[in-house]
Amino acid sequence: MTQHKAISGTPITGAIVTGGAGFIGSHLCESLLRKGLPVVLVDNFCTGLRDNAETLKQHAKAKSNLHVVEADVIEPWSWVDKISPGIRSKISHVFHFASPASPPLYQDMAFATLWVNTTGLNHALEFADTIKARVVFASTSEIYGDPEISPQPESFWGNVNSFGVRSCYDEAKRFGEALIFTHNWKKKTQHGLVRIFNTYGPRMNPHDGRVVVNFLMQALRSEPLTVFGDGSQTRSFCYIDDLVDGIWRYAESELTTPVNLGNDREFSILELVETVKKMLPEKKLKVEFQDLPKDDPKQRRPDLQLAKKELAPWQPSIQLADGLKLMYAWLEQQHESI
Ligand code: NAD
Ligand code: UDP
Repeated sequence: MTQHKAISGTPITGAIVTGGAGFIGSHLCESLLRKGLPVVLVDNFCTGLRDNAETLKQHAKAKSNLHVVEADVIEPWSWVDKISPGIRSKISHVFHFASPASPPLYQDMAFATLWVNTTGLNHALEFADTIKARVVFASTSEIYGDPEISPQPESFWGNVNSFGVRSCYDEAKRFGEALIFTHNWKKKTQHGLVRIFNTYGPRMNPHDGRVVVNFLMQALRSEPLTVFGDGSQTRSFCYIDDLVDGIWRYAESELTTPVNLGNDREFSILELVETVKKMLPEKKLKVEFQDLPKDDPKQRRPDLQLAKKELAPWQPSIQLADGLKLMYAWLEQQHESI
Protein backbone atom coordinates (compact mmCIF):
# COMPACT_ATOMS: atom_id res chain seq x y z
CA MET A 1 0.00 0.00 0.00
CA THR A 2 1.33 3.43 -0.94
CA GLN A 3 2.39 5.67 1.91
CA HIS A 4 0.82 9.10 1.54
CA LYS A 5 2.76 11.96 3.06
CA ALA A 6 1.48 15.48 3.50
CA ILE A 7 3.36 17.82 1.13
CA SER A 8 2.34 20.88 3.11
CA GLY A 9 -1.20 22.20 3.46
CA THR A 10 -3.75 20.23 5.46
CA PRO A 11 -3.11 16.61 6.52
CA ILE A 12 -6.22 14.45 6.25
CA THR A 13 -7.64 13.63 9.70
CA GLY A 14 -11.11 12.48 8.60
CA ALA A 15 -13.35 12.90 5.58
CA ILE A 16 -16.77 12.95 4.03
CA VAL A 17 -16.72 11.08 0.71
CA THR A 18 -19.75 11.71 -1.49
CA GLY A 19 -20.10 8.92 -4.03
CA GLY A 20 -18.29 6.71 -1.50
CA ALA A 21 -19.97 3.52 -2.72
CA GLY A 22 -18.82 4.20 -6.26
CA PHE A 23 -15.71 2.92 -7.96
CA ILE A 24 -13.24 5.69 -7.06
CA GLY A 25 -15.06 6.75 -3.89
CA SER A 26 -14.89 3.27 -2.36
CA HIS A 27 -11.13 3.06 -2.92
CA LEU A 28 -10.72 6.50 -1.40
CA CYS A 29 -12.77 5.38 1.63
CA GLU A 30 -10.65 2.26 1.94
CA SER A 31 -7.41 4.23 1.93
CA LEU A 32 -8.80 6.47 4.71
CA LEU A 33 -9.94 3.46 6.76
CA ARG A 34 -6.55 1.78 6.35
CA LYS A 35 -5.05 4.80 8.07
CA GLY A 36 -7.56 4.49 10.90
CA LEU A 37 -9.32 7.73 9.95
CA PRO A 38 -13.05 8.41 10.32
CA VAL A 39 -15.02 8.34 7.08
CA VAL A 40 -18.58 9.45 6.35
CA LEU A 41 -19.58 7.65 3.14
CA VAL A 42 -22.55 9.33 1.45
CA ASP A 43 -24.25 7.77 -1.55
CA ASN A 44 -27.66 7.26 -3.10
CA PHE A 45 -26.46 4.10 -4.89
CA CYS A 46 -27.72 5.30 -8.29
CA THR A 47 -24.61 3.93 -10.04
CA GLY A 48 -22.41 2.68 -7.17
CA LEU A 49 -22.61 -0.76 -5.61
CA ARG A 50 -24.16 -1.49 -2.21
CA ASP A 51 -21.62 -4.32 -2.06
CA ASN A 52 -18.81 -1.73 -2.10
CA ALA A 53 -20.18 -0.21 1.12
CA GLU A 54 -20.59 -3.71 2.61
CA THR A 55 -17.00 -4.62 1.70
CA LEU A 56 -15.79 -1.46 3.42
CA LYS A 57 -17.81 -2.28 6.55
CA GLN A 58 -15.88 -5.53 6.82
CA HIS A 59 -12.58 -3.70 6.75
CA ALA A 60 -10.61 -4.43 9.92
CA LYS A 61 -10.27 -0.78 10.89
CA ALA A 62 -13.82 0.21 9.86
CA LYS A 63 -15.51 -0.66 13.17
CA SER A 64 -16.25 2.75 14.64
CA ASN A 65 -14.70 4.72 11.80
CA LEU A 66 -17.08 4.10 8.90
CA HIS A 67 -20.44 5.86 8.80
CA VAL A 68 -22.63 5.08 5.82
CA VAL A 69 -25.32 7.63 4.95
CA GLU A 70 -27.84 6.91 2.20
CA ALA A 71 -28.74 10.32 0.78
CA ASP A 72 -29.01 12.24 -2.45
CA VAL A 73 -26.40 15.01 -2.16
CA ILE A 74 -28.41 17.24 -4.52
CA GLU A 75 -30.93 17.63 -1.68
CA PRO A 76 -30.13 19.83 1.36
CA TRP A 77 -27.50 18.19 3.56
CA SER A 78 -29.76 17.66 6.62
CA TRP A 79 -27.95 14.37 7.40
CA VAL A 80 -24.87 16.31 8.57
CA ASP A 81 -26.72 17.03 11.84
CA LYS A 82 -26.53 13.32 12.64
CA ILE A 83 -22.72 13.22 12.47
CA SER A 84 -21.47 12.96 16.05
CA PRO A 85 -19.48 15.96 17.36
CA GLY A 86 -16.45 13.66 17.84
CA ILE A 87 -16.40 12.68 14.16
CA ARG A 88 -17.34 16.13 12.91
CA SER A 89 -14.40 17.72 14.70
CA LYS A 90 -12.04 15.35 12.86
CA ILE A 91 -13.30 16.02 9.33
CA SER A 92 -10.59 17.91 7.48
CA HIS A 93 -11.74 17.12 3.92
CA VAL A 94 -14.90 16.70 1.88
CA PHE A 95 -14.30 14.68 -1.29
CA HIS A 96 -17.13 15.47 -3.69
CA PHE A 97 -17.02 12.44 -5.96
CA ALA A 98 -20.75 11.76 -6.37
CA SER A 99 -21.80 11.81 -10.02
CA PRO A 100 -22.72 9.31 -12.69
CA ALA A 101 -19.51 9.01 -14.71
CA SER A 102 -20.08 6.62 -17.60
CA PRO A 103 -21.48 8.14 -20.82
CA PRO A 104 -24.53 5.82 -21.08
CA LEU A 105 -25.36 6.31 -17.37
CA TYR A 106 -24.89 10.07 -17.22
CA GLN A 107 -26.97 10.41 -20.37
CA ASP A 108 -29.74 8.30 -18.74
CA MET A 109 -29.50 10.48 -15.61
CA ALA A 110 -28.81 13.73 -17.44
CA PHE A 111 -30.62 16.12 -15.06
CA ALA A 112 -29.22 14.45 -11.94
CA THR A 113 -25.75 14.73 -13.51
CA LEU A 114 -26.21 18.45 -14.06
CA TRP A 115 -27.35 19.03 -10.47
CA VAL A 116 -24.97 16.77 -8.59
CA ASN A 117 -21.94 18.58 -10.00
CA THR A 118 -23.43 22.04 -9.39
CA THR A 119 -26.07 22.17 -6.61
CA GLY A 120 -24.53 19.08 -4.96
CA LEU A 121 -21.07 20.63 -5.11
CA ASN A 122 -22.43 23.88 -3.69
CA HIS A 123 -23.84 22.00 -0.68
CA ALA A 124 -20.41 20.44 -0.18
CA LEU A 125 -18.70 23.85 -0.28
CA GLU A 126 -21.22 25.49 2.06
CA PHE A 127 -21.00 22.69 4.61
CA ALA A 128 -17.21 22.43 4.39
CA ASP A 129 -16.92 26.14 5.18
CA THR A 130 -18.90 25.68 8.40
CA ILE A 131 -16.30 23.20 9.71
CA LYS A 132 -13.31 24.75 7.91
CA ALA A 133 -12.75 21.62 5.82
CA ARG A 134 -11.21 21.49 2.35
CA VAL A 135 -13.32 20.29 -0.59
CA VAL A 136 -11.67 18.25 -3.31
CA PHE A 137 -13.90 17.97 -6.36
CA ALA A 138 -13.66 15.17 -8.93
CA SER A 139 -13.38 17.05 -12.20
CA THR A 140 -12.55 15.29 -15.42
CA SER A 141 -10.61 15.20 -18.67
CA GLU A 142 -14.04 15.73 -20.27
CA ILE A 143 -13.66 19.42 -19.58
CA TYR A 144 -11.16 19.38 -22.49
CA GLY A 145 -13.91 18.03 -24.81
CA ASP A 146 -12.56 16.83 -28.15
CA PRO A 147 -9.08 18.26 -27.61
CA GLU A 148 -7.20 20.07 -30.36
CA ILE A 149 -3.86 19.49 -28.68
CA SER A 150 -2.20 16.42 -27.26
CA PRO A 151 -1.24 15.75 -24.56
CA GLN A 152 -3.68 18.05 -22.75
CA PRO A 153 -2.09 20.45 -20.24
CA GLU A 154 -4.15 22.19 -17.57
CA SER A 155 -3.69 25.44 -19.50
CA PHE A 156 -5.79 24.15 -22.43
CA TRP A 157 -9.28 25.65 -22.13
CA GLY A 158 -11.06 22.89 -23.97
CA ASN A 159 -13.13 22.26 -27.05
CA VAL A 160 -16.52 21.30 -25.66
CA ASN A 161 -19.93 21.08 -27.31
CA SER A 162 -22.20 22.87 -24.82
CA PHE A 163 -25.33 21.75 -26.65
CA GLY A 164 -25.13 18.00 -27.08
CA VAL A 165 -25.59 14.65 -25.37
CA ARG A 166 -22.32 14.85 -23.43
CA SER A 167 -22.86 18.44 -22.29
CA CYS A 168 -24.87 17.48 -19.16
CA TYR A 169 -21.64 15.96 -17.85
CA ASP A 170 -18.93 18.10 -19.46
CA GLU A 171 -20.56 21.45 -18.79
CA ALA A 172 -21.67 20.50 -15.27
CA LYS A 173 -18.05 19.66 -14.45
CA ARG A 174 -16.92 22.93 -16.05
CA PHE A 175 -19.48 24.82 -13.96
CA GLY A 176 -18.18 22.92 -10.92
CA GLU A 177 -14.68 24.20 -11.63
CA ALA A 178 -16.02 27.75 -12.04
CA LEU A 179 -17.92 27.41 -8.76
CA ILE A 180 -14.77 26.38 -6.91
CA PHE A 181 -12.77 29.19 -8.46
CA THR A 182 -15.44 31.75 -7.58
CA HIS A 183 -15.96 30.37 -4.07
CA ASN A 184 -12.22 30.60 -3.33
CA TRP A 185 -12.02 34.06 -4.93
CA LYS A 186 -14.96 35.62 -3.13
CA LYS A 187 -14.85 33.73 0.17
CA LYS A 188 -11.06 33.40 0.52
CA THR A 189 -11.26 29.60 0.85
CA GLN A 190 -8.81 26.88 -0.25
CA HIS A 191 -10.90 24.28 -2.04
CA GLY A 192 -9.51 22.39 -5.02
CA LEU A 193 -10.11 19.94 -7.83
CA VAL A 194 -8.42 17.18 -9.75
CA ARG A 195 -9.01 16.48 -13.45
CA ILE A 196 -9.27 12.72 -13.64
CA PHE A 197 -8.51 10.85 -16.88
CA ASN A 198 -9.99 7.41 -17.66
CA THR A 199 -9.43 5.27 -14.58
CA TYR A 200 -10.28 1.59 -14.17
CA GLY A 201 -10.02 -1.18 -11.60
CA PRO A 202 -11.94 -3.45 -9.25
CA ARG A 203 -15.29 -2.26 -7.79
CA MET A 204 -16.43 -0.52 -10.97
CA ASN A 205 -20.05 -1.46 -11.55
CA PRO A 206 -19.92 -4.39 -14.03
CA HIS A 207 -22.87 -2.81 -15.86
CA ASP A 208 -21.30 0.66 -15.91
CA GLY A 209 -20.76 0.69 -19.68
CA ARG A 210 -17.29 2.25 -19.87
CA VAL A 211 -14.88 0.64 -22.27
CA VAL A 212 -12.57 -1.26 -19.92
CA VAL A 213 -15.33 -2.87 -17.88
CA ASN A 214 -17.34 -3.58 -21.04
CA PHE A 215 -14.41 -5.38 -22.68
CA LEU A 216 -13.56 -7.39 -19.57
CA MET A 217 -17.18 -8.39 -18.98
CA GLN A 218 -17.53 -9.36 -22.64
CA ALA A 219 -14.32 -11.38 -22.37
CA LEU A 220 -15.58 -13.08 -19.21
CA ARG A 221 -18.71 -14.13 -21.07
CA SER A 222 -16.72 -15.02 -24.22
CA GLU A 223 -18.73 -12.46 -26.19
CA PRO A 224 -17.33 -10.20 -28.96
CA LEU A 225 -15.68 -6.98 -27.77
CA THR A 226 -17.79 -4.02 -28.93
CA VAL A 227 -15.59 -1.40 -30.60
CA PHE A 228 -17.35 1.89 -31.28
CA GLY A 229 -16.36 3.53 -34.57
CA ASP A 230 -13.16 2.23 -36.16
CA GLY A 231 -11.34 1.99 -32.81
CA SER A 232 -8.67 4.53 -33.78
CA GLN A 233 -9.78 6.96 -31.02
CA THR A 234 -7.41 7.02 -28.07
CA ARG A 235 -7.67 7.04 -24.28
CA SER A 236 -5.04 6.84 -21.52
CA PHE A 237 -5.95 4.35 -18.81
CA CYS A 238 -4.95 4.79 -15.19
CA TYR A 239 -5.14 2.04 -12.56
CA ILE A 240 -7.13 3.03 -9.47
CA ASP A 241 -4.25 2.76 -6.94
CA ASP A 242 -2.16 5.30 -8.87
CA LEU A 243 -5.13 7.66 -8.98
CA VAL A 244 -5.94 7.41 -5.26
CA ASP A 245 -2.30 8.14 -4.42
CA GLY A 246 -2.49 11.30 -6.56
CA ILE A 247 -5.79 12.38 -5.00
CA TRP A 248 -4.29 12.05 -1.49
CA ARG A 249 -1.27 14.10 -2.40
CA TYR A 250 -3.43 16.80 -3.96
CA ALA A 251 -5.83 16.81 -0.98
CA GLU A 252 -2.97 17.33 1.47
CA SER A 253 -1.30 20.01 -0.65
CA GLU A 254 -2.07 23.72 -0.68
CA LEU A 255 -3.06 23.60 -4.35
CA THR A 256 -6.38 25.10 -5.37
CA THR A 257 -5.75 25.08 -9.12
CA PRO A 258 -6.67 22.13 -11.40
CA VAL A 259 -4.21 19.26 -11.70
CA ASN A 260 -4.46 16.41 -14.23
CA LEU A 261 -4.34 12.90 -12.77
CA GLY A 262 -4.12 9.77 -14.89
CA ASN A 263 -1.63 7.72 -16.84
CA ASP A 264 0.04 9.31 -19.85
CA ARG A 265 0.51 6.11 -21.85
CA GLU A 266 -1.97 6.48 -24.71
CA PHE A 267 -3.77 3.56 -26.36
CA SER A 268 -6.15 3.38 -29.29
CA ILE A 269 -9.28 1.37 -28.53
CA LEU A 270 -7.98 -1.28 -30.97
CA GLU A 271 -4.76 -1.47 -28.93
CA LEU A 272 -6.88 -2.00 -25.84
CA VAL A 273 -8.63 -4.85 -27.67
CA GLU A 274 -5.23 -6.41 -28.46
CA THR A 275 -4.11 -6.10 -24.83
CA VAL A 276 -7.26 -7.89 -23.63
CA LYS A 277 -6.88 -10.58 -26.29
CA LYS A 278 -3.24 -11.15 -25.32
CA MET A 279 -4.24 -11.51 -21.67
CA LEU A 280 -6.84 -14.18 -22.51
CA PRO A 281 -5.58 -16.06 -25.62
CA GLU A 282 -7.66 -19.14 -24.78
CA LYS A 283 -10.85 -17.11 -25.25
CA LYS A 284 -10.20 -16.43 -28.96
CA LEU A 285 -12.10 -13.16 -28.63
CA LYS A 286 -13.78 -11.56 -31.62
CA VAL A 287 -14.58 -7.90 -32.27
CA GLU A 288 -17.93 -6.37 -33.17
CA PHE A 289 -17.83 -2.85 -34.61
CA GLN A 290 -20.69 -0.53 -33.63
CA ASP A 291 -21.55 3.10 -34.37
CA LEU A 292 -19.40 5.76 -32.74
CA PRO A 293 -21.48 7.68 -30.15
CA LYS A 294 -22.08 11.37 -30.83
CA ASP A 295 -19.34 13.82 -29.79
CA ASP A 296 -17.00 10.97 -28.78
CA PRO A 297 -13.56 12.61 -28.26
CA LYS A 298 -10.94 11.42 -30.76
CA GLN A 299 -8.01 11.50 -28.39
CA ARG A 300 -7.17 11.89 -24.74
CA ARG A 301 -3.86 11.88 -22.96
CA PRO A 302 -2.94 13.86 -19.85
CA ASP A 303 0.04 16.15 -19.68
CA LEU A 304 1.30 15.14 -16.23
CA GLN A 305 4.14 17.62 -15.84
CA LEU A 306 2.29 19.69 -13.26
CA ALA A 307 1.19 16.66 -11.22
CA LYS A 308 4.69 15.18 -11.21
CA LYS A 309 6.18 18.49 -10.08
CA GLU A 310 3.60 19.58 -7.51
CA LEU A 311 2.70 16.16 -6.13
CA ALA A 312 6.24 14.66 -6.28
CA PRO A 313 7.18 11.88 -6.07
CA TRP A 314 3.77 10.89 -7.48
CA GLN A 315 3.70 9.21 -10.85
CA PRO A 316 1.54 6.46 -12.31
CA SER A 317 3.37 3.14 -12.09
CA ILE A 318 0.89 0.38 -12.93
CA GLN A 319 1.02 -0.90 -16.50
CA LEU A 320 -2.25 -1.47 -18.35
CA ALA A 321 -1.63 -5.22 -18.80
CA ASP A 322 -1.07 -5.63 -15.04
CA GLY A 323 -4.04 -3.49 -14.02
CA LEU A 324 -6.34 -5.35 -16.40
CA LYS A 325 -5.38 -8.66 -14.77
CA LEU A 326 -6.29 -7.31 -11.32
CA MET A 327 -9.63 -5.98 -12.55
CA TYR A 328 -10.43 -9.18 -14.44
CA ALA A 329 -9.70 -11.27 -11.34
CA TRP A 330 -12.15 -9.14 -9.35
CA LEU A 331 -14.83 -9.38 -12.04
CA GLU A 332 -14.39 -13.17 -12.11
CA GLN A 333 -15.05 -13.25 -8.36
CA GLN A 334 -18.25 -11.26 -8.87
CA HIS A 335 -19.34 -13.44 -11.75
CA GLU A 336 -21.77 -15.52 -9.66
CA SER A 337 -23.76 -12.44 -8.63
CA ILE A 338 -23.77 -10.47 -11.90
P1 NAD B 1 -19.19 5.70 -10.07
O1 NAD B 1 -20.45 5.80 -10.85
O2 NAD B 1 -18.66 4.35 -9.80
O3 NAD B 1 -19.33 6.46 -8.69
C1 NAD B 1 -20.13 7.59 -8.49
C2 NAD B 1 -20.88 7.40 -7.19
O4 NAD B 1 -21.67 8.57 -6.93
C3 NAD B 1 -21.84 6.22 -7.21
O5 NAD B 1 -21.68 5.43 -6.05
C4 NAD B 1 -23.23 6.87 -7.23
O6 NAD B 1 -24.21 6.06 -6.67
C5 NAD B 1 -22.95 8.15 -6.48
N1 NAD B 1 -23.89 9.23 -6.75
C6 NAD B 1 -24.21 9.74 -7.97
N2 NAD B 1 -25.10 10.74 -7.84
C7 NAD B 1 -25.34 10.88 -6.51
C8 NAD B 1 -26.17 11.75 -5.74
N3 NAD B 1 -26.94 12.68 -6.32
N4 NAD B 1 -26.17 11.62 -4.39
C9 NAD B 1 -25.39 10.68 -3.79
N5 NAD B 1 -24.59 9.83 -4.47
C10 NAD B 1 -24.57 9.93 -5.82
O7 NAD B 1 -18.13 6.58 -10.87
P2 NAD B 1 -16.58 6.80 -10.60
O8 NAD B 1 -15.86 6.35 -11.80
O9 NAD B 1 -16.19 6.26 -9.28
O10 NAD B 1 -16.51 8.38 -10.57
C11 NAD B 1 -16.40 9.09 -9.35
C12 NAD B 1 -16.20 10.57 -9.64
O11 NAD B 1 -14.99 10.75 -10.39
C13 NAD B 1 -17.32 11.19 -10.47
O12 NAD B 1 -17.54 12.51 -10.02
C14 NAD B 1 -16.75 11.21 -11.87
O13 NAD B 1 -17.32 12.22 -12.65
C15 NAD B 1 -15.28 11.44 -11.60
N6 NAD B 1 -14.42 10.95 -12.69
C16 NAD B 1 -14.22 9.61 -12.86
C17 NAD B 1 -13.39 9.18 -13.90
C18 NAD B 1 -13.07 7.73 -14.12
O14 NAD B 1 -12.35 7.42 -15.07
N7 NAD B 1 -13.49 6.79 -13.30
C19 NAD B 1 -12.82 10.11 -14.78
C20 NAD B 1 -13.10 11.46 -14.58
C21 NAD B 1 -13.87 11.88 -13.51
N1 UDP C 1 -16.00 2.41 -26.35
C1 UDP C 1 -15.96 1.30 -27.16
N2 UDP C 1 -16.67 0.20 -26.79
C2 UDP C 1 -17.40 0.15 -25.64
C3 UDP C 1 -17.43 1.29 -24.81
C4 UDP C 1 -16.72 2.41 -25.20
O1 UDP C 1 -15.31 1.29 -28.22
O2 UDP C 1 -18.01 -0.91 -25.36
C5 UDP C 1 -15.20 3.60 -26.73
C6 UDP C 1 -15.94 4.92 -26.66
O3 UDP C 1 -16.59 5.19 -27.88
C7 UDP C 1 -14.80 5.88 -26.39
C8 UDP C 1 -13.81 5.07 -25.57
O4 UDP C 1 -14.15 3.70 -25.80
O5 UDP C 1 -14.16 6.26 -27.60
C9 UDP C 1 -13.87 5.36 -24.09
O6 UDP C 1 -15.21 5.29 -23.70
P1 UDP C 1 -15.70 5.33 -22.21
O7 UDP C 1 -17.18 5.20 -22.22
O8 UDP C 1 -14.93 4.37 -21.38
O9 UDP C 1 -15.31 6.77 -21.63
P2 UDP C 1 -15.11 8.22 -22.26
O10 UDP C 1 -13.65 8.43 -22.24
O11 UDP C 1 -15.67 8.31 -23.64
O12 UDP C 1 -15.85 9.11 -21.32
